Amino acid sequence: MKTEETMNRICPVCGREYHDAPALSRVDNTTLICPDCGTREALCSIGVGEAEQEEILGIIHRARRGEDA
Ligand SMILES: [Zn+2]
Repeated sequence: MKTEETMNRICPVCGREYHDAPALSRVDNTTLICPDCGTREALCSIGVGEAEQEEILGIIHRARRGEDA
């Protein structure tokens, strides 16, 4: 069993605790951020607005929950 999967990390961008595999921030290519913020940065980089980013994240969360259940 991998212990890192149960480790809680704090995302420096949104300040929330997460325990999924971290994403690498596109801002400095060094900072590890939560998967949600990683998705936001990726969407932002292709010109997706904030409201649409949240909408897409909602869809991702629903899909993820469905798979894990
Ligand atoms: Zn975050």
